[in-house]
Amino acid sequence: MRINLGGIQVRKLLLLLSLLAPTLAMAEPLRVFASVIPIQTFVQKVGGKHVDARVMVRPGFSPHTYEPTPQQISALSSAVLYVRTGVPYEKVWMNRIRAASPRMQVLDARAGIDLREIEAHGHDEHEHTDEHHDEHASAHEDHHEQDPHVWVSPPLVKHMIGQIRDRLIALDPDHAADFTRNHDALAAELNALDTELHTLLDPLPNRKFMVFHPAWGYFADTYRLIQTPIENQGKRPGPRALAALIDQAKHEGIKIIFVQPQFDKRQARQVAKAIGGAVVAVDPLAADYIDNLRRVGQQFAQALQP
Ligand SMILES: [Zn+2]
Repeated sequence: MRINLGGIQVRKLLLLLSLLAPTLAMAEPLRVFASVIPIQTFVQKVGGKHVDARVMVRPGFSPHTYEPTPQQISALSSAVLYVRTGVPYEKVWMNRIRAASPRMQVLDARAGIDLREIEAHGHDEHEHTDEHHDEHASAHEDHHEQDPHVWVSPPLVKHMIGQIRDRLIALDPDHAADFTRNHDALAAELNALDTELHTLLDPLPNRKFMVFHPAWGYFADTYRLIQTPIENQGKRPGPRALAALIDQAKHEGIKIIFVQPQFDKRQARQVAKAIGGAVVAVDPLAADYIDNLRRVGQQFAQALQP
């Protein structure tokens, strides 16, 4: 076969190249999906103008029960990276998320982090109706759910953004210097936040707090606090477990029950009322991560005041 390099073909080729050139020169920002809003914030901060960070679990929704919209699944097809955290909706959706974009890489934000187990407490009434129930055996069998809320601890976020930086550099080496500079600026902010939180929380004599949904475990571990959830393994406690929690709160001098906007507040209010305390909302999913955690620290400091 003869390749024709006659005048007309060359002109066509040049025309085609001139049409392609502008799109090659002004590369589109990399589209990256994050599982939850704080991770979207970190990806956008590290990526800067070279990245278009999207979120799967939209504001106001719970990462435990979220269902991606068809629009989100179709937007995934042009994504190059998905940052997951192991929140429960991913267990149901991860295969479909991967299938929506076969060339998309997946980065697990938990990689390299020593995962903690979610606190469990007393048994529900229905557990006691099981006549073959063995308290000790079941207490150790059911309670091994790993805590996916890794982003609520600033030192863990520092580890996470290092991985985000490395992955963005691998995907877009031309902007490595920008990714590194953005990462370093965010890491410095996280260091300052961590110091501030230690100053605020280290001197408190009370270390125990009660929360409806246990999203603050890594925060508690980092600042040596003790989290007691009202929810038990993702379920509402029955009346007996609730009464036990009220006794515990009274005994431990707890006055504040923390809640988060994405979850029902009725049972938290019930406990607060019984102990003559109050319910305070703290949001582990806020977009303004640094300022939000600073506020959360102040709210904890206030709640744990003797
Ligand atoms: Zn959660």
